[in-house]
Amino acid sequence: AKESGRNSISFFKPAMQAAADRRLTLEKEMRRALQEQQFVLHYQPQVNDEPRVVSAEALIRWQHPEKGMISPAEFIPLAEDTHLILPIGAWVLHETCRQIKAWDEQGHKIDHVAVNVSSRQFRQAGFVQQVRQALLDTGVNAKRLVIELTEGCVIEHIDDTIAKMHALQAMGVRISIDDFGVGYSSLSYLKSLPLSQLKIDQSFVRHINDPNAAVIVETIIMMTKSLGLNVIAEGVEEQAQIDFLKAKGCSFYQGYYYGRPVPADAFKFSL
Ligand code: C2E
Ligand code: CA
Ligand code: CA
Ligand code: CA
Repeated sequence: AKESGRNSISFFKPAMQAAADRRLTLEKEMRRALQEQQFVLHYQPQVNDEPRVVSAEALIRWQHPEKGMISPAEFIPLAEDTHLILPIGAWVLHETCRQIKAWDEQGHKIDHVAVNVSSRQFRQAGFVQQVRQALLDTGVNAKRLVIELTEGCVIEHIDDTIAKMHALQAMGVRISIDDFGVGYSSLSYLKSLPLSQLKIDQSFVRHINDPNAAVIVETIIMMTKSLGLNVIAEGVEEQAQIDFLKAKGCSFYQGYYYGRPVPADAFKFSL
């Protein structure tokens, strides 16, 4: 057993070392990316049931000088581990507000833009002040900003969550729970939180033909409405999914069916 243990160590070590090296390189490059403004936000339309484009979600991309466009799924987890998500997240907030202002000045009508805030970013002591500052610096009304938090982020340190949510709500910023349904599947705690929206995770939308997924979606929509919240479905790719969701009472949609995330200057304000 001892022998095989040693073998497995010598077998895995080079692979682990390589992974660690890659992370270190990526971390260094990420620091540079921030200074050299290699991050960019793309915007994906959110549509009501008319259907009309009413809002957008800001999604970060990394335009790496050699590696090309890197998806957030690749670098956000490392940014979280290394705390680089703090300056990146601050940039996302400021850049989103700046874009809202720019669209306003160009005469484009959009109700609000949603930004993703990671747990580590939300947990930092100055988060509410950071949001206030981004709005102040850009001259954007708080009602134009929606913050997307995941279920897990909301659940951990619930007292801190409640305090920050109330401070944001008092300011006029709205909060949406992202990827809803995958984590805790308990809606009871939501009653005590100042939320405005739940976002049904795209995995349920994708599997809507599966009776189990369909029942979960139906339940989420029913309970969301009974709590007086908006419900948005993400990852809609087919008319049939929209038809089902609409029949169950969903009122907002986001997904490739209506539009992929695109740079701000390519965003379409009408379908
Ligand atoms: P998310 O917040 O759940 O965002 C939805 C993801 O689904 C996006 O991937 C979007 O491009 C993709 N998507 C939208 N509609 C469809 C569809 O119809 N079909 C399919 N297959 N996919 C669709 P993306 O842009 O790669 O972002 C991945 C994740 O990275 C996001 O998931 C979010 O958790 C994180 N992320 C993105 N931008 C930021 C950011 O600025 N800050 C933080 N903290 N996280 C971010
Ligand atoms: Ca999101
Ligand atoms: Ca999501
Ligand atoms: Ca997600």
